Amino acid sequence: MALMAGVIRRLDEIVVNRIAAGEVIQRPANAIKEMIENCLDAKASSVQVTVKDGGLKLIQIQDNGCGIRKEDLDIVCERFTTSKLQTFEDLASISTYGFRGEALASISHVAHVTITTKTSDGKCAYRAFYSDGKLKAAPKPCAGNQGTLIAVEDLFYNVATRRKALKNPSEEYAKILDVVSRYAIHNSGISFSVKKQGETVADVRTLSNATTVDNIRSIFGNAVSRELIEVGCEDEMLAFKMTGYVTNANYSVKKCTFLLFINHRLVESSALRKAIETVYAAYLPKNMHPFLYISLEIAPQNVDVNVHPTKHEVHFLHEDSILERVQQHIESKLLGSNSSRMYFTQTLLPGITASSADVVKPASSSSANQGTGDKVYAHQMVRIDSRDQKLDAFLQPANKSKTSGLAAEESSNKQACKESGPQECSDFDVRATGAETMNKPEGSMERQPVSSEDIPSRKKQRTDGDVEMEEDVRQDLTAACVPRRRIINLTSVLTLQEEISNQVHTSLQEMLHNHSFVGCVNPQWALVQYQTKLYLLNTTKLSQEMFYQILVYDFGNFGILRLSEPAPLYDLAILALENAESGWTEEDGPKEGLAEYIVEFLTKKSEMLKDYFSLEIDEDGNLTGLPLLIDNYIPLLEGLPMLVLRLATEVNWDEEKECFESLSKECAMFYSIRKQYIMDEPDLNAQQADELGPSTHSWKWTVEHVLYKAFRTYLMPPKNFTEDGTILQLANLPDLYKVFERC
Ligand code: ADP
Ligand code: MG
Repeated sequence: MALMAGVIRRLDEIVVNRIAAGEVIQRPANAIKEMIENCLDAKASSVQVTVKDGGLKLIQIQDNGCGIRKEDLDIVCERFTTSKLQTFEDLASISTYGFRGEALASISHVAHVTITTKTSDGKCAYRAFYSDGKLKAAPKPCAGNQGTLIAVEDLFYNVATRRKALKNPSEEYAKILDVVSRYAIHNSGISFSVKKQGETVADVRTLSNATTVDNIRSIFGNAVSRELIEVGCEDEMLAFKMTGYVTNANYSVKKCTFLLFINHRLVESSALRKAIETVYAAYLPKNMHPFLYISLEIAPQNVDVNVHPTKHEVHFLHEDSILERVQQHIESKLLGSNSSRMYFTQTLLPGITASSADVVKPASSSSANQGTGDKVYAHQMVRIDSRDQKLDAFLQPANKSKTSGLAAEESSNKQACKESGPQECSDFDVRATGAETMNKPEGSMERQPVSSEDIPSRKKQRTDGDVEMEEDVRQDLTAACVPRRRIINLTSVLTLQEEISNQVHTSLQEMLHNHSFVGCVNPQWALVQYQTKLYLLNTTKLSQEMFYQILVYDFGNFGILRLSEPAPLYDLAILALENAESGWTEEDGPKEGLAEYIVEFLTKKSEMLKDYFSLEIDEDGNLTGLPLLIDNYIPLLEGLPMLVLRLATEVNWDEEKECFESLSKECAMFYSIRKQYIMDEPDLNAQQADELGPSTHSWKWTVEHVLYKAFRTYLMPPKNFTEDGTILQLANLPDLYKVFERC
């Protein structure tokens, strides 16, 4: 076959235009981007997009902007017609999106375009049809709202190759949603919507009064929006300003979402993307990425927007320096958001006060990853079985053999019951036997020691005020042992109960109820986990509050912790006065006289103290019994002298309510677990203690198995616990996971 020289012909103008159009408009989403920019140039506050077949059949965009004058309708679809640029120099200071007058022309070369538009001073709307950039007939007057409606039908009807390349309408629709979403986020204050033709519900919808974060939330979901950090920096020398929102180190996904606007144009910049991702690489797990919305404003004369008709690729002067500044700024924000939030504002308990929807659910829950339907990552999983690994597992048990007198004294009630002889107490002449599970003498004053099963009856008591006696709920006990619970109808006590229940912090209560015990730091502090968070709890304060609440709610219904030998109030008072803590000075008079007075005073009150508080004082002025507030717990008896002194001096004995309140407070303080609580006892871990039986319980065992167990059921934590440092959030698992994953 002979090689023939090709004949060079001038291309048909229509073909030239069609080729040019194909460069600007490659798919429906490009057309929509151009048309949205036109709406924004026209100062619209509402942009509504309707699409059929992914935009291939129909794209319709309605705005409420300035409209197009009737006399301009002839030429809007010709190439290089624009109302926005007149000279080449204008390019340097262009502030509108469009300036080439190329978009509408291009679209009209590859689709059927209909424009319906009305200006504010136009008497009516006009409708015009376009083909290959030319108006097909004179614009016709018609009814219409202020603004412009542009319909683009049968995109690429005349470009078979393009049409074939775009076979998948849902893919095109996804790209359209993406473009509109980005513009919606960048243009808060303007309402956007996208829907398929014939559908009533929009797939993207933002409101004109919504903030940028609102829009990010409604489009990308809560998982993103709640982890956003606002960013912003500027530099006069480099003539740029950056604003935006980026996710903190708590958030990461497999694919980076990067919304970049430079001078309000949606663009891509792989250089900037790389620069920012480098910063995140130090904070996120491997191969995980952030969400980024960045708006850069750069002096127009420094930006070369005239790179390509799609205007996608934007370059600017001082690119490297600007990227570096942006990197530095984001790095500082990321650092700040992590360390400071976790460790310096910890008393604010962000997780506890947040709504339950914000809390990551346990892994077993199907709604674990709210709203996104993503799979649950390991770092979102929550240990929910408290028998799992505890802190003790990591600690070496120390000197098992040593058993101090105090530890022995700590023995449980039941055990002490079995042992008949009194046990010597090292510091004071006070001996404790456990409270026998009462064999009631006369009357019904005493009841079964409190246990978790009693909670329902406690609650019931508050509502059934007219019932005088009620069956104890513990039906499984032998009839002889079933005491009747005394119903207290004293207004003072009921008021104190109400004051407690009015103050309860329900999410804290939920946390205490469902926590997993992690370990003791010391007798005063312990760690617990709830959902993905680790908390440091002040056991002293929690126990003090719980004992106070038990004293108020079980008022008049306590079991007795009987002292093995009567403890003379006089000796206790003298001991207390000799303690610097009492604040005794010479001016108060001789200690002996004061001690005598205290004995006399408390003996006078003994009937009431015994009746309501199970605080037993015999005729000879000896303390013989203390209230039994919870099973397996004996207060530290070192505190007894101070209790006696304070009962006489700190309690308001004049007013009924104040008396019960201050009495309960003093007792609660005495019962609370405190720092000096036996630090030199055998340091057994929980398992060893269990094996050795209840008489060898360590303070750690008591804290975990007695106090924290009781907190679950009895404690109604007051609201101020979140602010006074009683409960501190130390860490949130997802944050730690990131740290460890990188190791
Ligand atoms: P450019 O935006 O580059 O000027 P276009 O082809 O996108 O070019 O638009 C041509 C002209 O049509 C614009 O300059 C503007 O005057 C007018 N126009 C297009 N869309 C709208 C609209 N939605 N509202 C008002 N005027 C519009
Ligand atoms: Mg334009």
